[in-house]
Amino acid sequence: MVSRSFAIVGAGFSGAVVARQMAEAGHTATVYDTRPHVAGNCFTARDETDVMVHVYGPHIFHTQHQHVWDYINRFGEMMPYRHTVRAMVGGTMYRMPMNLTLINDFFGTQFTPEEAEAFVTSKADATITNPVSFEDQALRFVGRELYEAFFAGYTKKQWGVDPTELPASILARLPLRFTADDSYFNHPFQAIPRNGYTPIVQAILDHPNITVHLNTRFNKSQSGSFDHVVWTGPIDAYFNFEHGRLGYRTLDFVKEVHDGDFQGCPVLNYCDVDVPYTRITEHKHFAPWETHEQTVTYREYSRLCEENDTPYYPIRLVKEKDQLLNYVQRARDERNVTFLGRLGTYRYLDMDVTIHEALQAASGMLSAIADGSEIPSFFTDPIGVA
Ligand code: FAD
Ligand code: UDP
Repeated sequence: MVSRSFAIVGAGFSGAVVARQMAEAGHTATVYDTRPHVAGNCFTARDETDVMVHVYGPHIFHTQHQHVWDYINRFGEMMPYRHTVRAMVGGTMYRMPMNLTLINDFFGTQFTPEEAEAFVTSKADATITNPVSFEDQALRFVGRELYEAFFAGYTKKQWGVDPTELPASILARLPLRFTADDSYFNHPFQAIPRNGYTPIVQAILDHPNITVHLNTRFNKSQSGSFDHVVWTGPIDAYFNFEHGRLGYRTLDFVKEVHDGDFQGCPVLNYCDVDVPYTRITEHKHFAPWETHEQTVTYREYSRLCEENDTPYYPIRLVKEKDQLLNYVQRARDERNVTFLGRLGTYRYLDMDVTIHEALQAASGMLSAIADGSEIPSFFTDPIGVA
């Protein structure tokens, strides 16, 4: 087999996993990242308090994919962790997601699971048969009172637009249960790495066929030095924003250090629209196996991403989808480059899906090499998926 040279743009999970798979197959991977560290937005580091801080916001690993679970466990120790979220509405703290306890606390009732289900069904708007917007979906799902208390204000702050303009798919991420189970996720595997995500990504990249250049921006003009480029940076940046900038939300984190325990839980959402931040994260609760005298909190503010900000959440409204279509068409005409990951395909991707898609892309690239066929620009269609 002839060894191929790959430039991998981005040292987040997407780039690291692809680099590893190509390296293990005998190819070389040169990985570039503009940041001074690997792990992309999943970067974690201990600060002066010794608490492990999720520097770009809270990251909980959860998956239904056995192969992704096996993959991440090869590279670091995953600690069992069950994520819970609390929500503040009008000065009262509730247990998210929507479950029996929240329903009884909010309505001042003592429903059994069956009674709660019948009650919420009576509140839900059954006339909405084909929910298009976030608001439709919420009204159909839980009715007006719960929607206005828990979703309307938070969603306006998070996305900067009215929930009537957002797609229903955003809400579909949250469960509704008529039991007291307040686990935020339904997935069978839920964990947080004992030493944070950074050493996991470092271990993935630790292979003799992989070279990593940090603090280094890769420019398209360097592509000719490699057989193939895997681009996990923003797809619009690859094309110098020729069809305009794709919209993202960015986050500002206001960090505070306190003594003791600040809020008693890892994430407390502030659902009222007149509170300017969306949530407060208290990082030491992501590592319940550790003890710390001090505590680190991030107060999170969401706003539109400007040119020099970190892009966090792809907005994907109608305007962005039209622009994305232009970029995808351009990308399909490019030779020797594959677009991958959260920024390369402009989609909200959890870490497990990121790893799953990177493994699929690597296996697709290896098959193409074996067949002598051209490596495609995408292994997932960025348009047809939510
Ligand atoms: P990134 O991690 O964004 O990596 C891309 C890298 O490319 C970046 O480091 C960037 O610096 C680099 N880059 C870009 N352009 C260039 C260039 N030209 N040259 C060199 N380098 C370049 N997922 C979960 O599973 N659970 C969670 O709880 C969770 N919470 C999240 C909370 C927040 C606030 C956010 C924003 C995301 C969350 N996610 C969560 C999603 C998770 O962050 C992503 O799945 C993951 O980061 C995607 O990895 P990636 O490699 O595709 O992208
Ligand atoms: N959401 C809300 N209130 C909450 C929690 C979530 O309105 O207390 C909405 C909000 O629009 C958010 C979406 O549900 O963007 C998905 O929630 P999730 O917790 O998955 O958000 P993420 O962790 O991606 O920020």
